[in-house]
Amino acid sequence: MELIGAVVLGIFVSLIAFDISQNINSICNWLTQRAASLTPMSLRARLHEEWSADVDDTSSVTLKLFVILGFFVAALRIQLGVFRVRARSVFNQQEALDHQNDETIIVPHTNDDEKAPVPFAFNNVYSSAIKTIHCRLTDHFDQQGPWHHLDPVSQLVLGILGGRTRGSVSLSALEALINRFESWEAVRDASYCEVRETIASVTFPDNKARYIQAALHQLTAARGRLELEFLALWPVDSALAWLEKLPGAGRRVSAATLNFSSLKMRALVVDSHHLRVTKRLGLLRRQAGFGEAYCQLTSRMPVNWTSDDVDEHHQLVKLLGQTVCRHDTPVCAECPLRDLCPTSSVSIS
Ligand code: SF4
Repeated sequence: MELIGAVVLGIFVSLIAFDISQNINSICNWLTQRAASLTPMSLRARLHEEWSADVDDTSSVTLKLFVILGFFVAALRIQLGVFRVRARSVFNQQEALDHQNDETIIVPHTNDDEKAPVPFAFNNVYSSAIKTIHCRLTDHFDQQGPWHHLDPVSQLVLGILGGRTRGSVSLSALEALINRFESWEAVRDASYCEVRETIASVTFPDNKARYIQAALHQLTAARGRLELEFLALWPVDSALAWLEKLPGAGRRVSAATLNFSSLKMRALVVDSHHLRVTKRLGLLRRQAGFGEAYCQLTSRMPVNWTSDDVDEHHQLVKLLGQTVCRHDTPVCAECPLRDLCPTSSVSIS
């Protein structure tokens, strides 16, 4: 249909062109006179003669055919141009629709997720909410620090041992490793069975023994020796990213290595207790993982908090999760945050 339309339009334009070509002589003469009138007087007569002669010669059937053909081609090109514009328009509409569909799949899912959590009592004062929580917990549990800071490599190993394991058990396993092998180089070079046997009291000792030795080997390959002190000069995010390339070092282990060790960097540790409590308090969406929790909570931490404040905050929230806001049954009646908590089972009059 489009091609037929182009041909019909071409014929129509050609008819008009043919009519114009009938008067081509008079048009050319008029143009010649206009051009001649703009030339200097000395050349005008000669040019007028030559141009007039040319026009007379070219005002033939050949010229008329070329003019008609030119208009026909022009008409076709215009029509094809219209096709392209229409096609592009349709493509753009389709692309917009596809994009919309993508958003339908991805974005609304996120929005729904963000809407999914229970209403948050501190929505507009998020950062001050963290401060309020911190003060309430300090009043309730008393100050938890100061803490002893291990060297960064020992803290890294302790972090790997601590996954899904009580703090006292993982600390005992760390001491057992140090007592038996006396250096991290010896742990790295020991047999897998010896390391696994030494940390048998922690959960998943098979994997943890493998991770510890692989991390120590990778660290040696990268730095030439077992040390992490160089990270003290790095921005926290870069240091986290570097550590997370080591086997067994996720966000929790990496943040603990930076914050709990003698590096004393401002990295908030979010463990399973911290994650659960902050979700129940409405600070995070229900589907948030450790990485998202770290980013959300860190970006809203008071800017003047030191690494010790960050450490203390983690310990307080963790303690609440262990003793009051427990996984199975939160004891909301004893919670110092119950009037702020949207999931509290205690009604506040
Ligand atoms: S009020 Fe209940 S649910 Fe909310 S933080 Fe306290 S213990 Fe957890």
